[in-house]
Amino acid sequence: MSARILEGRSVATAVKDEVAEAVAQIPKKIGLATVLVGDDPASHVYVRSKRRTAEKVGIASIHHELPDTTPQKELEDLVRSLNADDDVDGILVQLPLPDHLDEQRITTLIDPGKDVDGLHPHNLGLLALGRPALVACTPRGVMRILDHYGIETSGARAVVVGRSILVGRPLGLLLGLKGTDATVTMAHSRTKDLGEVTREADILVAAIGRAKMIGPDDVKPGATVIDVGINRIEEGLVGDVDFEKVAEVAGAITPVPGGVGLMTVAMLMDNTVMAARMHVG
Ligand code: NAP
Repeated sequence: MSARILEGRSVATAVKDEVAEAVAQIPKKIGLATVLVGDDPASHVYVRSKRRTAEKVGIASIHHELPDTTPQKELEDLVRSLNADDDVDGILVQLPLPDHLDEQRITTLIDPGKDVDGLHPHNLGLLALGRPALVACTPRGVMRILDHYGIETSGARAVVVGRSILVGRPLGLLLGLKGTDATVTMAHSRTKDLGEVTREADILVAAIGRAKMIGPDDVKPGATVIDVGINRIEEGLVGDVDFEKVAEVAGAITPVPGGVGLMTVAMLMDNTVMAARMHVG
């Protein structure tokens, strides 16, 4: 293995330490509301981790758990009441919601100033304009890893495989912002000759959701490879990148687990502090 390992734990710890310090300086108790609808086991694990981390950094965790039969109106009423609640600085409705619920309607109903998941069209619009916004946690986590390890983005060719609203698209926007200045290509399931595209990348991000899809032949020697994927297969938890083989070719690589995944919750705390700062002016 020749690549430098960009592990996420120390970066996430640094972010959480900064958040705890900021929380102590804000003259009000900061609150993060989490809303969990239904019994999806992975969602329960994620929300538990978010709540635990919030408490650890001094953010009050306000939790609402609803059955998977919850009608749309009841969930909307809850979001409206959280929007109006001064003790709540950030609102996170854990996705995916059960099929009968309209996710987009819920996402759009959240006060953009409390939208710590960065999924409201207002925040996505601000991001596209290059203006301050609450930005999705995983893409922010990727940017923080690049920054922490001193990976040069200016003038770099960045290829993001995946264009979801949660990861790929905001990450593509962040990488291309003035000041970050990567030249960004967004690839997806209709991209022709994907390997030809990914081999152009100085920074290659895989946010696909397909176990070990990116192999050594897809990577330019010396490139930085960021693996956002989380896939559960028989051998355990793996990313979208074939780590062992790609590490022989890449210059730097994030592991799964232990890479980007650890950043998402840390950046959620950071977003909550950012939202609280906006509320106290
Ligand atoms: P998603 O909404 O399913 O989007 C997947 C993207 O990958 C889509 O844009 C899709 O293209 C593209 N894609 C699918 N198959 C492809 C192929 N064969 N070739 C090229 N592109 C392909 O998934 P997501 O929410 O962005 O998540 C992606 C991965 O990141 C998942 O493994 C997820 O578990 C993980 N994730 C991790 C974190 C974290 O904290 N580390 C957070 C969120 C997500 P189309 O648009 O054309 O369909």
